[in-house]
Amino acid sequence: MTEVSRLLIENCAIATVDSGGTEHASGHLVIAGDRIESVGAGPAPAGLENVTRRVDASGQLATPGLVNTHHHFYQWLTRGLAQNANLFDWLTTLYPVWARIDEPMVHAAARASLAMMARGGVTTAMDHHYVFPRGAGDLLGAEIRAARELGVRFTATRGSMDLGASDGGLPPDSAVESTEDALRATERAVLDHHDPSFGSMLHVAVAPCSPFSVTTELMREAATLARRLGVRLHTHGSETVEEERFCHERFGMGPTAYFESTGWLGDDVWMAHCVHMTDDDVAAFARTGTGVAHCPSSNARLAAGIARVPDLLAAGVPVGLGVDGTASNESGELHTELRNALLVSRLGPHRENALDARASLRLATRGGARVLGREAEIGSLEPGKLADVVLWDLTGLGHSTIADPVAALVLGPPAPVTLSLVGGVPIVEAGHLTTADERTVAREARVQSQRLAR
Ligand SMILES: [Zn+2]
Repeated sequence: MTEVSRLLIENCAIATVDSGGTEHASGHLVIAGDRIESVGAGPAPAGLENVTRRVDASGQLATPGLVNTHHHFYQWLTRGLAQNANLFDWLTTLYPVWARIDEPMVHAAARASLAMMARGGVTTAMDHHYVFPRGAGDLLGAEIRAARELGVRFTATRGSMDLGASDGGLPPDSAVESTEDALRATERAVLDHHDPSFGSMLHVAVAPCSPFSVTTELMREAATLARRLGVRLHTHGSETVEEERFCHERFGMGPTAYFESTGWLGDDVWMAHCVHMTDDDVAAFARTGTGVAHCPSSNARLAAGIARVPDLLAAGVPVGLGVDGTASNESGELHTELRNALLVSRLGPHRENALDARASLRLATRGGARVLGREAEIGSLEPGKLADVVLWDLTGLGHSTIADPVAALVLGPPAPVTLSLVGGVPIVEAGHLTTADERTVAREARVQSQRLAR
């Protein structure tokens, strides 16, 4: 039997984000193959064999790789538009542009979105793609290819819209599919791409877009399909007051009651936003284990409101962080969400339970892993888990005077990533992607963005 090679990381602060929140002021990580073999205080044990690399990480902080739980990669090509609009006006401005996307555009946008997140410490990405113009090519396949090229662990979700404007929905008819086409393509995507094995680089989930762009039939059928195939469910929920009004007018109930009536509450479901939640809604999410992708920057950009994250956490609801699409969060990197989740929660009505730096880091790592159904594999630095690890340099101008490394990471400016591992494989070294040239990715995205604008 050939023994796996070992990578040792030593002399760094470590925030393991395990269930007890264990931290080490100066510690070590031993990585064997794609797994974490040991983590602890002080130097690595002596006498380890097959050590192929030893990293002196003095002045750095090791954390689990960040997990992004909500995104729309294609929006990389339409950033900075409808800058002052609320959600519904923003959507109706952008739908006609999005209805012209094609495979080369989605591929370039996905590479740029993934590159931006990866160099900022994201090791697991997700994407919610729901615009499938006829004849546009294999859009989901383009994103999957991009994630494989960049080396990022990925949850692709096959989204859909089948409620066009002529049937009372928000999107134009040109941007929606038929219910049957959406279901058939979604099943195909799961069968072709979903890998449920431990350490999988690719999950696929079922993700009709939102109550105002999807028929009740598609919501119900999608839930049935996902459970038959054993994959997770994702959608947007309770994002704005306008959505709440839409649900009351069309369905005679609020969004959470509507989701419950269509089979959409459960521990195999996570929803983006969940801003406008009553106490009963929060209790229903907690009772059923339904997860939340909290996207504070996007909620602020579209003036959607402040999610009740402290209340959700107190009730036991699984919560992760999301960038959301970069047409409503132009930064496109997850660090902003750690910082903004903390800051925004202190502006809300429950200041005494507001997030602190460690709670914010937990949302972005362990919380995200739970929301994506991968808590056993990723989200904390513990023996046996996958070696998705990030080293943050805290010795520079932006961080050197903050004594608490977790506070430096969350409250300070984005820290340079000196090393990011996905399953033990480096995807970032010394601040640069190892799998792509950043300037080339940027140029290709610009070319496709200009094609789309024509
Ligand atoms: Zn979204």
